[in-house]
Amino acid sequence: MGPTLDEARALDAADPLASFRDRFSLPKGVIYLDGNSLGPPPTKTRERIGKVISGEWGEGLIGSWEKAGWIAAPARIGAKIAPLVGASAHEVIVGDSTSVNLFKLMAATLAAQPERRTVLIEADDFPTDLYLARGVAGFAPDARLKIAPPGGLCEFLGPDIAIAVLSHVHYKTAERRDMAAISRAARDCGAFMLWDLSHSVGAVRIDLHGAGADLAVGCGYKHLNGGPGAPAFLFVAERHQARLENPLSGWMGHADPFAFAPEYRPAKGIARFLVGTPPILGLSALEAGVEIVSEAGAAAIEAKAARLFEFLAACAASRLACFDLTIIGPSEAERRGGHVCLRHPDAGRLIALLAERGVIGDFRPPDLARFGLSPLF
Ligand SMILES: *Cc1c(COP(=O)(O)O)cnc(C)c1O
Repeated sequence: MGPTLDEARALDAADPLASFRDRFSLPKGVIYLDGNSLGPPPTKTRERIGKVISGEWGEGLIGSWEKAGWIAAPARIGAKIAPLVGASAHEVIVGDSTSVNLFKLMAATLAAQPERRTVLIEADDFPTDLYLARGVAGFAPDARLKIAPPGGLCEFLGPDIAIAVLSHVHYKTAERRDMAAISRAARDCGAFMLWDLSHSVGAVRIDLHGAGADLAVGCGYKHLNGGPGAPAFLFVAERHQARLENPLSGWMGHADPFAFAPEYRPAKGIARFLVGTPPILGLSALEAGVEIVSEAGAAAIEAKAARLFEFLAACAASRLACFDLTIIGPSEAERRGGHVCLRHPDAGRLIALLAERGVIGDFRPPDLARFGLSPLF
């Protein structure tokens, strides 16, 4: 018969993260299992944005760039994300979209290593990563793109690879890759390794330092609950910061933006990866989202997501066995992210029928039904 509703209620009652649900605005009667596509709004975000608009912007006007800490926001919020990804505060900065950050870091590594001309990526990685790898390879002088089969990145590492790009948690299968082993393999062949943390930040523990990681990017509007189109973040290990230059050499990455000098001179540290004026409304919402995740902690979130997965898998095994429905991806907790994907020939209709009953997941054509097991709500 499998798990019962009473068992689910008992688990809820003993759940140390249970109170977090009240800190999100969600429609009544809705079970939202799509926080890995768009996290819901934390209730404090509305208040935060209201204050920024009426107080900081409305009253403080242009003085708020300094007085309200606007100019410092990309570094300040980067420092708040840093512990969630196992980095130091001065190695993470917030700004632009994940797509733009992918471009900046890929292009920077090609420019820094004229003797290495290949960008390496896996065939089934997230589409924007693939598109940008292709775009950068077409844009940087003599650069090429190499596409490895799914799971095969390491076999293609070699003396011509400038940079290899990989999602830490796969957006469909939820497979979590071995960051330490793959980073080591890239380092051994002299290539940079760029991790896309979009589906792992705020869902599982990440230890960039422990893995000896070089570079990473990540999304603000998924498990970090930063709001639609929230600014993304990037990580550059301290040892690489002086050597890599931002190809989008905008004034916010200048060593002294307000000197209005005609010559570009990059800022010393991670700030050189900024481009233009930071979007303060979006950053304010992101900061509120990041604070909630930090308060809960990545370890507690990961542990609960693993139990949610076990519960769901047990339900599926006991009740859905007759429906030709399979959970794809690994089942071991340490090899999974915080979402689950089911394969069924009629997955699109399944997702539509669930939505009519107030359960929101998403459909990944042709046959995948994907559900975010977001422990905070
Ligand atoms: C969501 C996601 C992105 C998003 O990129 P945007 O520039 O914000 O649209 C990038 N990569 C991965 C792996 C993602 O999951």
